[in-house]
Amino acid sequence: PSAIVKKLFMKGQMVTVNHEIDFETAEEIALEFNYICEPEEKIDVIAELLKEDAEDEATMVSRPPVVCVMGHVDHGKTSLLDAIRETRVTDREAGGITQHIGASVVSINNRDITFLDTPGHEAFTAMRMRGANSTDIAILVVAADDGVMPQTVEAINHARAAGVEIIVAINKIDKPSANIDKVKQELSEYELIPEDWGGSTVFCPVSAHTKEGIDNLLEMILLTADVLELKANPNRNARGLVIEAQLDKGRGAVATVLVQKGTLHVGDPVACGSSYGKVRAMVDDKGRRVKTATPSTPVEILGLNSVPVAGETFVACDSEKDAKSFAETYISEEKHKLVEETKSRMSLDDLFSQ
Ligand code: GDP
Ligand code: MG
Repeated sequence: PSAIVKKLFMKGQMVTVNHEIDFETAEEIALEFNYICEPEEKIDVIAELLKEDAEDEATMVSRPPVVCVMGHVDHGKTSLLDAIRETRVTDREAGGITQHIGASVVSINNRDITFLDTPGHEAFTAMRMRGANSTDIAILVVAADDGVMPQTVEAINHARAAGVEIIVAINKIDKPSANIDKVKQELSEYELIPEDWGGSTVFCPVSAHTKEGIDNLLEMILLTADVLELKANPNRNARGLVIEAQLDKGRGAVATVLVQKGTLHVGDPVACGSSYGKVRAMVDDKGRRVKTATPSTPVEILGLNSVPVAGETFVACDSEKDAKSFAETYISEEKHKLVEETKSRMSLDDLFSQ
């Protein structure tokens, strides 16, 4: 150390052994001692923690598709989601009052489809933090009387960037001014070409108001899901994404999670980001208490020690100790990142103040 301190001193840097020096300086000094410096590879500790081996094909079984709705403002995204839930309400078990948990499951022909309430682009950006994708299929809603608008194009770009399959729902076909062919024409310019025009994109004319075409849209979603061969292993520790979370006065931290792999059980130790705990209770989208949640199922969970961030990955662990240690690693890593950010911000400030 004293030799290095001396070298630095010669370069006009007053340092002691406890000083941290930047990479460039270290490199320069090291060269004088005939060493070549290499910057330490930045290891994303959390990404490492979340990393998993590829799953054995034999363990995988078919799972329901997870769908989101995107499109220009006022083209009918909310109305369409409501219409879908309403038309399928008769299929539901008695007492099925939809409760708002940020996602809902509808069934058609005895098969389930999970709809996220989060608008597509938000779902993609918030939930892709660690490369995890929330959605399998995006429903691009385009009003038949309005056609392709700026946010329609944005939605297409977001869906493509996320590698999500697009199904077009031409909405408001009940309107006298509806022009389905014009929408098809306009979307063709974005390489969304309908099957009856020789393309490969599914187009579904619908009306959220009259409910015309809703069942056909749901069937098309299932057909697309079949092509995508969506699968997951239900027999392992659960893992998935936090869709929504808040602090409830009476119930404490409440998080809606989308199970993507494995099965989540009441009593499972879980960690999501800096939060952890044991699943005390689970409630499904129909407000029913459930004991288990399989892949593609959204459930509200109680029992976390703090409110996790939406978009964060949750993992079920073998023990509460594991869950706690996961959360602690996360917390220390976040702190570390904060320190690093502050440092680089400070050095930038220094640069600009000179
Ligand atoms: P969002 O902004 O995409 O969520 O659009 P909304 O669902 O809020 O709908 C915007 C407006 O379009 C509302 O006034 C709806 O009543 C109307 N609307 C939605 N779907 C239909 C439809 O199928 N037919 C007609 N005529 N109006 C619709
Ligand atoms: Mg809306």
